[in-house]
Amino acid sequence: MSDARRPQRLHIGLFGRRNAGKSSLCNALCGQDAALVSPVPGTTTDPVEKVMELAPLGPVVLLDTPGLDDAGELGAQRVARSLRTLEEVDVALVVLEDSLWGPPEARLAAALQAADVPFGVVCNCRDAAAEQAARRLGPETFALPASIPLAVCRLDGTSTPAGALDEVRELLVRLRPQEEEPPLLRDLLPPRGRLLLVCPQDGSAPKGRLIMPQVQAIRDALDGHALCLVVTDEECGAALESLREAPQLIVCDSQVIAPVAATAPPEIPLTTFSVLMARLKGDLPLLARGAAALHSLRPGDTVLIQEACSHHPQEDDIGRVKIPRLLARLAGGELDCRLLAGRHWQDYDAIQQARVVVHCGGCTLSRRQMTRRLVTARRARLSMTNYGMAISLAQGVLERVLSPFPDALAAYREARLDQSARQRHA
Ligand code: SF4
Repeated sequence: MSDARRPQRLHIGLFGRRNAGKSSLCNALCGQDAALVSPVPGTTTDPVEKVMELAPLGPVVLLDTPGLDDAGELGAQRVARSLRTLEEVDVALVVLEDSLWGPPEARLAAALQAADVPFGVVCNCRDAAAEQAARRLGPETFALPASIPLAVCRLDGTSTPAGALDEVRELLVRLRPQEEEPPLLRDLLPPRGRLLLVCPQDGSAPKGRLIMPQVQAIRDALDGHALCLVVTDEECGAALESLREAPQLIVCDSQVIAPVAATAPPEIPLTTFSVLMARLKGDLPLLARGAAALHSLRPGDTVLIQEACSHHPQEDDIGRVKIPRLLARLAGGELDCRLLAGRHWQDYDAIQQARVVVHCGGCTLSRRQMTRRLVTARRARLSMTNYGMAISLAQGVLERVLSPFPDALAAYREARLDQSARQRHA
């Protein structure tokens, strides 16, 4: 799916037992038959996604999941898939048939609380008597904290009584996280600041379009009223010569950081799309600290290379070839580099065996999804950094590309000092 704004959409997970009305709720919210509805339990066998505008929330992705009470070997796999969706959602609705709450819902509530996902309970009532009964309930009925909000609706699977969804919408508004994403780059420039973006269009660039971080950077520059010039790496020198006044910021693709850093005078602030994405998506100082750990790699160490989406491997692929080659050079010998690709990050064995995780830019992940990965790495006491920072470090320019972000630069330097102290005491 090509939806450049997808990571910014609110991801709403619909969870519950088979036939609780999750798919009916999904269809009613989006006003379409996005999910197959039938009286046969277990009709939803894989999570179904619906990308839409949901007033008054704005752009959202609805994720309708298989039933949590599915049975048998295949059923257990479906339940596992449902629970894996927890990684992806910003908020969740636990859908009940009438007000039927039992062990599957209690387990789900515990998993949602452990994953720090805000959630509410929706009683999907089959008739007026059940609706009246549900309205008399409170969260304490389900042994949930009083802060867990509750909504009641009545859906018959094919039509939606007028106003039946108002409570669900209100509930979602209450659940929506209030945290705003930081800007991508506009805060780094004064009003009408001069910005040079260097976007190589080589064989690895997608045909006929720009990659998402480049599109986002141009949009953020326009939102910030920057004076933005976009060139390829081949025109970088000519662009600098042609400008009457030097740019106040240069942002380039990590793969051309070495020639751009050599071309751009040292007094011009320079960074990479990777560094900007790391700040936007999660915790730049943490990833900068993680980059320092690359200095301590030794031949044979295990490095987990993680990509957040699957793509056809290219010749000289960044995750499969370039990063392992650069890291091997840093370590002074071959490493055991293992690549995991995909939207889910559940291979904890691989995570725990690694010394360092080198993650892609995660352009298809939301800030919350990337933050969860950072938390997982931290819990496993693993250093984590990203492709761009690993490349900049290997090219000897990491401090320069972190310079526009003093807290990240300080974190990297502090981690290097800690390393030196440890080596002295070893
Ligand atoms: S591998 Fe990562 S950075 Fe590359 S396109 Fe996929 S999500 Fe984006």
